[in-house]
Amino acid sequence: MIEKEKIEAIKKDVDLVALIESRGIPLKKNGKSYKGLCPFHEDTNPSLSINPTTNLWQCFGCKAGGDVIRFVELFDKIDFPQAVSQLIADSSKLIAKPKTTDHKQRTTDFSVKDRKLLNKVMSYYQHTFNEDGRGLRYLKQERGITDNQSLKDFAVGYVNGTLLEILPDDPEVIKALKKIGILNQKGHEVFYNCVVFPLHSPQGSIVNLYGRNIGEDNEVSHLYLPGPRTGIVNRQAVKRSQTIILTESIIDALSLYDQGFKNVIPVYGVNGLLDDHISLFNRRIKEAYLVFDADEAGRKGAEGVALRLKEKEISSYIVSLPVKDVNVFFKRHTPEEFEALLKEANPESFEQSEKIRKRVQSLYKETEHGFIVGYGERQYVKGSGLLLTHVVALKINLECLFVNQ
Ligand SMILES: [Zn+2]
Repeated sequence: MIEKEKIEAIKKDVDLVALIESRGIPLKKNGKSYKGLCPFHEDTNPSLSINPTTNLWQCFGCKAGGDVIRFVELFDKIDFPQAVSQLIADSSKLIAKPKTTDHKQRTTDFSVKDRKLLNKVMSYYQHTFNEDGRGLRYLKQERGITDNQSLKDFAVGYVNGTLLEILPDDPEVIKALKKIGILNQKGHEVFYNCVVFPLHSPQGSIVNLYGRNIGEDNEVSHLYLPGPRTGIVNRQAVKRSQTIILTESIIDALSLYDQGFKNVIPVYGVNGLLDDHISLFNRRIKEAYLVFDADEAGRKGAEGVALRLKEKEISSYIVSLPVKDVNVFFKRHTPEEFEALLKEANPESFEQSEKIRKRVQSLYKETEHGFIVGYGERQYVKGSGLLLTHVVALKINLECLFVNQ
């Protein structure tokens, strides 16, 4: 027999929202409760309502409802004792531990004060990036980033351990920074010697940091704030195009961006496509190019991501790289060659590097009566009033003009 106390503990401690989501039902926050599609009747308009305070659920459509045990009984089609045993077995995953309480709300629940503080810290790290050359040197020399504007657009920072020197002498601030995860319990900077990137919520506030340790003998080279992964880099990408390029890491994304592929967004490792990404892409993005590492994990990860995107009606094309990753690719190859890889993944690809487009555009200028093309500094040719909308057409015209001369 199962003791009564144990049952009461399960009813109270199992996170009902996590339980329902663990059964593959996405939930959305709706005021103080959560909403989702009811699995117990044909539901098209979310009628399942979950109250996290009472830990009870109810469907307004089919009138089913109850506690966590009832949900498992109905969903897994098992009896009461079996449902209880099931929940005990799953409790490590479904019971929120007091220290990391309610991971779902951790970052979105940064207080206004915490968020301001995090913004200030990030601005300071950007300032140190400009003052102390080490971060910049790493990205330019070892990672091949060429354009300062790319670094500005990604709001890169560097942590040289001087944050404490500029902090006000206020124990509350130290306490808050420890809570956010900028300082460890000893009061040292967690991201010391890292280049850092801010990660934003789909709405635009900083919710996380990513740090890449640039030391040589470091053990941990990839760092985030504690808690679940949240936040997006270069979320503006979805405004540029209905096509997105996804990479496996932030530095890979920075490399592509730097080479003129501005509609790029990183996920965080092969399993790092977040709900934040999905909600940002929702109804905006139609197709995605997946540029993951050229290894087994990368290939499998890309296939997994492609499946998840398909559920959102986004078609994916998996790009195969001839080298380890896309950062290494650009050390030996040109943006034109990357365009060719995209075309290999999808022969109808129209993706272009802005770098190439700008180079070609500088050869072409519209005038009142036609257009002028420039070649080098001396040769100018007057056009016929044709409106050129395609780079290829321009290239062909240029070639013809020069052949004719
Ligand atoms: Zn129902």
